[in-house]
Amino acid sequence: MKNYHYIYFHGILMYRKNYREHDMLVKFFTAEFGPKMFFLRGARKKNYKLAADILPFSYGKYTGNIKKDLLSYIISPIDVKHYLNISEDIYLNAYATYIMNLLDTAFEDGHHSLEWFNKLFYSLKLINVGMDPQIVTNIMELQLLSVFGVAPELRGCVICGRSDLDLDYSEKMGGLICSNHFNQDLYRLRLDKKTIYYLRKFSIIELSKINNIKVNNQTKKELRSFFDNIYENDLGIKLKSKKFLDQMNNFKI
Ligand SMILES: [Zn+2]
Repeated sequence: MKNYHYIYFHGILMYRKNYREHDMLVKFFTAEFGPKMFFLRGARKKNYKLAADILPFSYGKYTGNIKKDLLSYIISPIDVKHYLNISEDIYLNAYATYIMNLLDTAFEDGHHSLEWFNKLFYSLKLINVGMDPQIVTNIMELQLLSVFGVAPELRGCVICGRSDLDLDYSEKMGGLICSNHFNQDLYRLRLDKKTIYYLRKFSIIELSKINNIKVNNQTKKELRSFFDNIYENDLGIKLKSKKFLDQMNNFKI
């Protein structure tokens, strides 16, 4: 008798990829093992028995055979749910896909992080129940910065620590500067007060405790370009799913 190592895990499906003629590779962000790639033999055949359990935007509890460096296997679904609204709405779908691609970029396979599993879970949940998907995405983008090795100072002025004066963002200084120190960076971003307010708020907010956050369109635009600037220019992260999202947003307007 073969000694299979069956184990329970909680996973959120990040993406699916066709593999060979009949098979599929599926990546889950698992609570127990971080991102993990699973090999699903025969997944592209008709009547594949796990078809409903590996649909895009599935999450839940499974048993599997988890391999350290090789492909893992799903043995059986235990309690699988779907983010239904996300899977039925191409717009929500685009945001959720971008968030998951960012996480996939940020974390190596097998990098265990229960904290980020939970953040992913709650971000998708919030989008699924109708919170503004851009705002959820911006919160994730902000909180991911430290994972990407950029941790902008948002508590107060980088130079003197004050937070009671007008603040602006300085790329040169890597964070906020107060009006006493605006002269230290001619190219400060000149962000609106509201944008600064939300950047500071997003950096400390807990996704699990949010009900809803409403932000006006002008501020949303400024937030979007703030993150585009950091992600594309500073970090050099240009994802296809982000391009698709931009195209969709342009089309919408
Ligand atoms: Zn200062």
